[in-house]
Amino acid sequence: MPEYLVKESSLASFFQALTQGRRLLAPQGQGDNCHLEVSTGPVSLDYANTHLSPKAVFFPQTEKLLAFHKLADKPKPHQYQDLGDKAEPTVIFGIRPCDAKGLSISNKVFQNDRFTDPYWKGKYEKTLKIGLACLSPSPQCFCAAMGGSPFGEVGLDVLAYPKDKGLGLRTLSPAGEELIESTSAEKADLASEIQDLAKKAIEAQGPLDAYQAIDASKLMDLYQAKHWANTAEPCLGCGVCTFFCPTCHCFDLQDEANDLGGVRMRNWDTCMSQLFTAHGSGHNPRPSKVERVRQRFMHKLKYIPIKQDGVRGCTGCGRCVVMCPANIDIRSVAATMAQASA
Ligand code: SF4
Ligand code: SF4
Repeated sequence: MPEYLVKESSLASFFQALTQGRRLLAPQGQGDNCHLEVSTGPVSLDYANTHLSPKAVFFPQTEKLLAFHKLADKPKPHQYQDLGDKAEPTVIFGIRPCDAKGLSISNKVFQNDRFTDPYWKGKYEKTLKIGLACLSPSPQCFCAAMGGSPFGEVGLDVLAYPKDKGLGLRTLSPAGEELIESTSAEKADLASEIQDLAKKAIEAQGPLDAYQAIDASKLMDLYQAKHWANTAEPCLGCGVCTFFCPTCHCFDLQDEANDLGGVRMRNWDTCMSQLFTAHGSGHNPRPSKVERVRQRFMHKLKYIPIKQDGVRGCTGCGRCVVMCPANIDIRSVAATMAQASA
């Protein structure tokens, strides 16, 4: 797909063009305090990554699915109203490649040959995704070790990168191409520059071997490995790692109702909670944090790769590394698993 250049003098009109007929979501704020918000431009390029991953755009932390109302004196006791698919045409600018890959992984969970989640699908199909490559990855980033790249293109319609106070762009889908053609961007040959910048950014992340050495075919042998008790010991079960993770997608359904009716809500849930797997009978197949912590890492590094052609369920965004109050670091756990599977 072709490349384009947006000069500094054209940035304002470029972002203005993105808003035509659509909502533009872009990072607002700086450094670590950066969030995706509705924007009319200018757009911040000075951030490591957004505090929350963009999964919340497609899979909100809490979402109303349907409403029900009691009908007096009617044969059917309730009337139902679908509240889903209120998606509006949207373009997101500034998704980091790790998070775009995370969206792609979750998309295969919410849309596959056996099941389609209409609430996810509506938003996903109406959203164009423009990534922002990482020229200088943060110390906590390890996307390359997880099979990605600071210039990764998976899950994106367009990949952008800062260039001479403007932007370099590569379009990656027909919809992305059409979008960029509608802006002030000018065609340019940036292929070799992108290749060089990507190589430097990957090298800046340091050695890759500790994580890549995990033998996925042997990970099931790790199920009863002794290290899980030590790995889980500091865990508080707070779920922070899962709420911040761009690929975690567990949810709970709750009816909030009174005698007249109510709404059915979908809320983020976490496998790190004891209640998550508690059965009505009282039985819990993951009764202690050892089983729950093992589930999290096995899911990321074994079960998702089995389902998704070897793609790992961790994209190396580093959020859980930074946010875990117990300093549990998936890089160390992955290295331990690599040793145990050697
Ligand atoms: S497991 Fe941690 S580092 Fe990996 S994608 Fe999730 S939050 Fe990011
Ligand atoms: S963030 Fe850390 S302490 Fe909290 S549930 Fe995850 S691993 Fe456990």
